[in-house]
Amino acid sequence: MPEGPYSKFRVGAALRTTSGEVFTGCNIENAAFTPTVCAERVAMSTAVAAGFKTFDTIAISSDVADTPIVPCGVCRQFLREFCKELEMLLVRPDGTFVRSSLSKLLPESFGPEWL
Ligand SMILES: [Zn+2]
Repeated sequence: MPEGPYSKFRVGAALRTTSGEVFTGCNIENAAFTPTVCAERVAMSTAVAAGFKTFDTIAISSDVADTPIVPCGVCRQFLREFCKELEMLLVRPDGTFVRSSLSKLLPESFGPEWL
């Protein structure tokens, strides 16, 4: 995965649909910062653009220290649009990972059923 030119983070995401397809993404940074898109949103946008809307797992990795990376608040809400329950594998640079879930990281969330 490429290094973000500003943050120097290398972040990758692999999102699995409930039918087993895997869509990947990397962070795409922008000189104006605000338009930057995280790897998780790139993966989900690619999947949705291909017609997939149900997901069961996302793996997120980076090369940041020894700490497994977690999705930012914007990505948590973005992922929530298509799945209230999503398993998360938060991967360390050495390949080990921590299991989490969207419902744990975004409890009592707002979603499409509210509208
Ligand atoms: Zn994010």
